[in-house]
Amino acid sequence: MNIVLLGSPASGKGTQADLLCKKFNLYHLSTGEVARKLAEKDQRIKEIIDSGKLIPAEEMTMHVINFLSNEKPDLKNILFEGFPRFISQFEALSNFLITKGDNLDLVISLDVSQEEAIKRISSRRVCEACGENFNLITKPSKFPGKCDKCGSNLIQRKDDNEDSVKVRFEYYENNTKELIDYVEKMGKLTKVNGERPIDEIQKDLVEIVERVKNEQNNN
Ligand SMILES: [Zn+2]
Repeated sequence: MNIVLLGSPASGKGTQADLLCKKFNLYHLSTGEVARKLAEKDQRIKEIIDSGKLIPAEEMTMHVINFLSNEKPDLKNILFEGFPRFISQFEALSNFLITKGDNLDLVISLDVSQEEAIKRISSRRVCEACGENFNLITKPSKFPGKCDKCGSNLIQRKDDNEDSVKVRFEYYENNTKELIDYVEKMGKLTKVNGERPIDEIQKDLVEIVERVKNEQNNN
């Protein structure tokens, strides 16, 4: 089965995607990873990503399809994280899968409020020397302001501030809300509250995936 996991910035979707992939032995397709690999070979894409912008929607769809054709040619048991974002991308990806005898079976959206996203992101800290990640709330370092691994100073990334989070959050809402409404009308959407502990959310997600799997086996 193929699953799409959507979520706003700081919704925890990366963590949940990793856990689901381990649990159900799914292939994790992260668009961040696809974009990084493309940027290694393509200066124009590198510039788009470095400027914090997104690769144009149709172009990104083409890259994802090419990437899959190379890396996961059977097109089965894929978890798409953060893609598709737009109705046009959703349709292009579904149509591609359908021509290959497969489909998108389930779309999950992991919700957190803008307030929660700001709280989570402005609590992020990173070691300026080794790059280890910390979070003042969820993953504090042993000694305040110092890295557990190498003892260097912890700093805040430039775009991990309130204004920047607001921009990213609103961008997500403005663009992805249409897709979420569209998928909801198709009856393929499940919404999950992301403002809870990681293991509680994971338990819900596992139940949702198992339910859809059972429905498919009974058909
Ligand atoms: Zn360090």
